[in-house]
Amino acid sequence: MYKKITPKVVSAYVECPRKAFQLMFADDKGIPNEYTQSLEEDTDKNRRNYIATLKDKYPIANPTVPHTAQEIQKKVFETPLETEDFLASADILTKVGDSTSLRKLNYSHSLVIGTHKINKQQKIQLAFIGHILSMYQKEKPMSGVMIAMDGKSHKVNLAPFYKEVDLILEVLKQWRISPKQAPSVILNKHCSCCLFQKQCEKIARDSDCLSLLGGIGKKEVTAVRLNIDQAQLV
Ligand code: SF4
Repeated sequence: MYKKITPKVVSAYVECPRKAFQLMFADDKGIPNEYTQSLEEDTDKNRRNYIATLKDKYPIANPTVPHTAQEIQKKVFETPLETEDFLASADILTKVGDSTSLRKLNYSHSLVIGTHKINKQQKIQLAFIGHILSMYQKEKPMSGVMIAMDGKSHKVNLAPFYKEVDLILEVLKQWRISPKQAPSVILNKHCSCCLFQKQCEKIARDSDCLSLLGGIGKKEVTAVRLNIDQAQLV
């Protein structure tokens, strides 16, 4: 059976394709560092506190998507979203419109984060959850909400991110069909916070990877390699 694609893997791809590959296929899941641990703790804490305040307002909250008209609620919390390919959880689903017809029900979604500022990876996660949600309901949510560490809500237009999510999912699905080697190590600005930092630095050192030189990215590494290859042909 294929491994399910999760928000963590999709957002990791934005930082570094190798990280996404390792999260999906490697037995060694890396070493959590201080930053990732405290980010997860802050996210959990913020989610718990925020949802607790909402549950006071919406006391009949049910953790599953409603199945009968009697169960239709304005908000539902921590709803598992699982399809053949994907596995995620929607922190908060908010009913859109006044319809009580189950066939016309639409929900928008919110993601609770553990930071004050919103970054691109978090927006991609929100869009990925919107992508899964669109498989349960008629309409694709065109926006979602991010709840930042200070409890403030930020509306995010998801339209620009859906295309990127589609492209990432194409790659990830292809990997599942025929997983090849992990993408090469290209050290980058995300490495210092990455679970795989130690193993990638070792690979880079052992192979004299050009990206060990500060500030060199994927494009530059490819250009330098091409120049070396061409020089060797002369
Ligand atoms: S340590 Fe750097 S190169 Fe390795 S997986 Fe993480 S982000 Fe990618």
